[in-house]
Amino acid sequence: MGKLDFIRQDLDAVRKAGTFITIRTIGSPQGAWIVVDGKKVLNLCSNNYLGFANDSRLKRAAQKAIDEYGVGPAAVRTIAGTMALHTTLEEKLAKFKNVEAAISFQSGFNTNLAAIPALVGKDDLIFSDELNHASIIDGCRLSRGKVVRYEHCRPESLKAQLEAYKDHPGKKLLVTDGVFSMDGDIAPLDKLLEVAEPYGVITMVDDAHGEGVLGNAGRGIADHYGLHGKLDIEVGTMSKAFGVVGGYVAGKKLIVDYLHQKARPFLFSSAVTPPDVAACIAAVDILQKSGELVEKLWDNAGYFKRKMEAYGFDLGFSQTPITPVMIGDEKTASELSRRLFEEDSIFAQSIAFPTVPKGKARIRVMISAGHSKEDLDYGAAKFAEAGKALGVI
Ligand SMILES: *Cc1c(COP(=O)(O)O)cnc(C)c1O
Repeated sequence: MGKLDFIRQDLDAVRKAGTFITIRTIGSPQGAWIVVDGKKVLNLCSNNYLGFANDSRLKRAAQKAIDEYGVGPAAVRTIAGTMALHTTLEEKLAKFKNVEAAISFQSGFNTNLAAIPALVGKDDLIFSDELNHASIIDGCRLSRGKVVRYEHCRPESLKAQLEAYKDHPGKKLLVTDGVFSMDGDIAPLDKLLEVAEPYGVITMVDDAHGEGVLGNAGRGIADHYGLHGKLDIEVGTMSKAFGVVGGYVAGKKLIVDYLHQKARPFLFSSAVTPPDVAACIAAVDILQKSGELVEKLWDNAGYFKRKMEAYGFDLGFSQTPITPVMIGDEKTASELSRRLFEEDSIFAQSIAFPTVPKGKARIRVMISAGHSKEDLDYGAAKFAEAGKALGVI
């Protein structure tokens, strides 16, 4: 037995189970049509909700930032100073989100690893939706706090858990995704906060799929429910609707000040690069001026969903532009995805167990403001043809 044989065995097992990940290569900028493995295809699976990933205004801002600030930050902010750009982004984000302060991190994933362990430790409790994102789960693990799961999006279940632990002496943190990425449903954050309020719980939402999508001009889930000032922490990402890369915490100044002192990815890792930050600033500036792209996104999503439903597809219980085309059987879902790609030049990936429960395989279609009505007509019509051929509809 070689010392690395376990890796071969494990990879073989993954291949046998049909869950081995093959990564496709993209040879073009992100957009409605992209080049995947050398083939031009309609892109129905990016998180580029507003088309910002290849927006000329963001690109110009990034190019200008390279000329002014260079390509790298070359240091950790707490040790060798922060570039003015990062501070500007944080101020603009706080203003955009109508909160006291914001602090940026290297990614959304990193933001959860930064925030959760800074706030709770081994004697504390974390109340967590059972379907929370991997980065929340990892942030909880890193904190060494006790995780208490409640049933997905059920305030009654949260209430029962809070009751069960009401005499626990430690701090309590509630954390939930804002929009759940596999089903496109929205956490009932207003009700969750109402339930949590009497128990003195710190409240946190990871709104990665809600930033730039929900609320007035994409201000996110707190704005969607009108919860300004009631929520302690909003985590956001700059890598989805904002089209760039990075993450942030927006909320109370006291908490943001604390994260400057305590959040380990802030203290021990360099910030994102000047062109990244400048592009993020340009995206925030655009949304601060106008919600036009966000309206286009919702208009496109509604249009596509109506077409797909008219064709007879089951779209689960999505409340957002995330459109899960429910297939059920894992093999059929992957065959449908393969056929759409090979025969119809449509890039729409199937998602199966273990990412979603067994028997709930689906093709997750991601609608963008960058799609034209013709793109959506084409996509829906080809879905219908392939769906009929495979007996899905
Ligand atoms: C995508 C996602 C993240 C990760 O964001 P990155 O900026 O890509 O690291 C974190 N949390 C949730 C809920 C997400 O959907």
